[in-house]
Amino acid sequence: MELPGTDITAPRKKVYPRHVEGRLRNLRTFFSILLQGLLFLIPWLQWEGRQAMLADVPGRKLFLFGLVLHPQDTYFLHLLLISGAITLFLVSAIAGRMWCGYACPQTIFTQSFLMVERWFEGDRAARIRLDRSPWNAEKLARKLGKRAAWCVMGGWLGFTFAGYFLPIREMAAQLLSGQVSTTTGLAMAFFTAISLFDFGYFREQFCCYLCPYARFQGAMLDSNSLIVGYDARRGEPRGKLKDPARGSCIDCGMCVQACPTGIDIRKGLQLECIACTACVDACDAVMDKIEQPRGLVRYSSLNGLEGKPTRVLRPRVLLYSALLLALGSLLVYLVWNRSPLGVDAIRVVPPGGQLAATTPDGRISNVFKINLINRLAVPEQVWIEAEGLEGAEIVGLQAPVQLKSGQVFEAQVLVLVPQKMARGSHPFRFQAHNQKDLKISKESSFFVP
Ligand code: SF4
Ligand code: SF4
Repeated sequence: MELPGTDITAPRKKVYPRHVEGRLRNLRTFFSILLQGLLFLIPWLQWEGRQAMLADVPGRKLFLFGLVLHPQDTYFLHLLLISGAITLFLVSAIAGRMWCGYACPQTIFTQSFLMVERWFEGDRAARIRLDRSPWNAEKLARKLGKRAAWCVMGGWLGFTFAGYFLPIREMAAQLLSGQVSTTTGLAMAFFTAISLFDFGYFREQFCCYLCPYARFQGAMLDSNSLIVGYDARRGEPRGKLKDPARGSCIDCGMCVQACPTGIDIRKGLQLECIACTACVDACDAVMDKIEQPRGLVRYSSLNGLEGKPTRVLRPRVLLYSALLLALGSLLVYLVWNRSPLGVDAIRVVPPGGQLAATTPDGRISNVFKINLINRLAVPEQVWIEAEGLEGAEIVGLQAPVQLKSGQVFEAQVLVLVPQKMARGSHPFRFQAHNQKDLKISKESSFFVP
């Protein structure tokens, strides 16, 4: 892989990608529409009367359809993030930077902004001409028209992105009534500004200079991973169409002109290549015109381009798959067995070390520290009882305990039993339940001296 040789302090050379049609372009357009549709739709979905997917920052809750995560559930998020990272490793090991080309929001929205730019300013050659031409009424109208359209797109994106952090229906109602809260206004302005800057101006620079994934890919890819590559064995020596000694490459430069990051795929695998396949479609069209077989630039592996066999099943692929399976199974198990209420209890040994004491009314007491957790999205009333201890009473809790959504309640309680209870350790369980008879229990034991 070619190392990044770009001088990051050098002024930016603006890239004017040429529009190309082709089968891979159609495939990317399909995924782009599908993923954008999902992105815009998901915040509007409802689940049990609330927004299905919402990172409620002020409320410190994350709603993922039926799952409500609170700050004490960060291990879920860690597991989700680790699973996401390993999925990316696995996809990269097999299919290279497929994510960048087909699913990354950076690529998808930059392409959408570019499409609008093309509507107003034309394709590559027209845009270069326009930028070099002096300012006149037509240039002003085209530039203003493009920016006005971008502002609409940026505003819509800003609203949608903010809708993953604030309730989108409330935001919509505020906008319609004209009474926008400061939080809504700031969140929308922030995401709109980011969208306009990133997709309208910064574009490929994000992939080339900022994206950490591009930096990792050297470690994730190997010579069997799928990449977009130029078949130098077939293409070289490149030369003009009429040159009888040339290979298949006629040095037309279409692959370079189509590239949204402005690189030349013929120089080999490069960090800036986002595997968008625009150069594949561009070169295939050229090959069709000169009646040569397609695929001079194509999906292949480094091994494939050198004429060696490509192996899909390799140790790293098997390792990532096994890790992913294990993590996925753990996540499913945790979600499946996750109770909306949680109870925990540990015995407290008071100063002096005595596990039990006798109360003035003759009963025997043990001290416990109890934790109750409400993992539901709504407040709950919780009652707690000592089950399995005849005549037992819990003192120190005002029943029912009022638990806000996500609240962890902690209390020290006395469990009292009649003195007639036999000596020794008596197993029992703390049982917590809500109004809907949702029950959860924690095993413990009572000590009678
Ligand atoms: S080299 Fe080809 S696949 Fe890579 S970014 Fe440029 S056009 Fe896309
Ligand atoms: S588009 Fe194909 S033929 Fe033209 S320069 Fe690129 S690789 Fe060579």
